[in-house]
Amino acid sequence: MRFFSTNDPTHQVELTQAVVKGLAPDQGLYFPFEIPKLSSDFLESLPDLSFREIGYGVIGAIFSDDLSTAQIKELVDHTLAFDAPIVKVEQDVYSLELFHGPTLAFKDFGARFCSKLMSMLMAKSDKKVRVLVATSGDTGSAVANGFLGVEGVEVVILFPKGKVSALQEKQFTTLGQNIISLEVEGVFDDCQKLVKQAFLDSELNSKLLLTSANSINIARWIPQCLYYFYAFSRLPKNGKEVVFAVPSGNFGNLAAGILAQRMGLPIKHFVAATNANKVVPDFLKGDVFTPKPSVQTVSNSMDVGNPSNFPRLLALYNFDEDSLKAHVSGGFYSDDETKEAIRSVREKGYVLDPHGAVGYLGLKDFMKSNPGFTGVFLETAHPGKFRDVVEEALGEDLVLPDRLAAFLEGQKKVTPMNNDFEEFKTFLKELE
Ligand SMILES: *Cc1c(COP(=O)(O)O)cnc(C)c1O
Repeated sequence: MRFFSTNDPTHQVELTQAVVKGLAPDQGLYFPFEIPKLSSDFLESLPDLSFREIGYGVIGAIFSDDLSTAQIKELVDHTLAFDAPIVKVEQDVYSLELFHGPTLAFKDFGARFCSKLMSMLMAKSDKKVRVLVATSGDTGSAVANGFLGVEGVEVVILFPKGKVSALQEKQFTTLGQNIISLEVEGVFDDCQKLVKQAFLDSELNSKLLLTSANSINIARWIPQCLYYFYAFSRLPKNGKEVVFAVPSGNFGNLAAGILAQRMGLPIKHFVAATNANKVVPDFLKGDVFTPKPSVQTVSNSMDVGNPSNFPRLLALYNFDEDSLKAHVSGGFYSDDETKEAIRSVREKGYVLDPHGAVGYLGLKDFMKSNPGFTGVFLETAHPGKFRDVVEEALGEDLVLPDRLAAFLEGQKKVTPMNNDFEEFKTFLKELE
């Protein structure tokens, strides 16, 4: 499979380059040259297949030119090491729980796939891959846990000192092995700037194989389509059309759902649900797409003012904006509405996290004006990860799952770093 840049369809690369580079040189996003259609036999057999068997079929359709059957199996088995159950919340409304992985958020799927694929593609190289990540919290934990113990890859995480929650910090600073955490005197933007400078530094790049594992990498994006196939196949067969509502920030998750649809999964409609960072819902209602500075909300993993996967949404509809607007509707919700949803759904016996609550609200709005659907919203994180918000909304204490509590026991190990590129560069050079 070749991949083209969304900025220039004539710029095409092979899988290895797309994965190791992450972003095209013209800053476009890589996109599959041709989206494979799955056979009707395969689609009809989905309810009889396990999550992993679904994974072999779907990933095989995209990557069979580049990877052997054994590699595809290894990749899928490593990625789908935990379940993604659908849970009924109320009549016709289901939660797709994507938080059963090591860091209790859906980013675990993409991070695990990405790490395994990178190590496979680089197995023949004698150079170690160095993944540089700047994080304000969630990405660092998913990438670190996804890459933990993966051969031939070392992860260097930069995070702003004192600006990441204690729980999030523990999820990457306690791991050891091939994960190095740099505690930077500065804010998130400083960390991001150091990483960007490193990618542009010719001396560093001649010595080290540096790459990023951010959410625009196809190796994080594509595997996210798998749980749409799985969830769809486990819904009750009642003849109703299916709608998925996706709580969104950078819109990779939504774009992966549409990719599943393009491959033949008969999802009828999508809802793009956001918090006050609503440039995509505004666009879907008819405005010109206009990135804005992000605003802080209680669903902070979606506080994105310039959604990086927007070009992929357009590419999925052949760059036809009207077609995108016809097939995806938008909704945006305030912090008060989000907390109220957490309360009202608790009364039905289900605890939402703030991101899932936004998805639930988007789904309910759509279903109110479009009756007769079966609806699924994506529950992208465990409520315990956003304990403060959920406990405040509910006025009750949450019980943390064991694997979340276990992170709190670990010993934090970091290297202090000034906000100074020369210091960072010296540190990287000494890794070799
Ligand atoms: C990253 C994240 C999102 C947003 O996902 P996108 O693919 O960027 O739209 C939603 N919920 C949680 C919990 C996240 O960590």
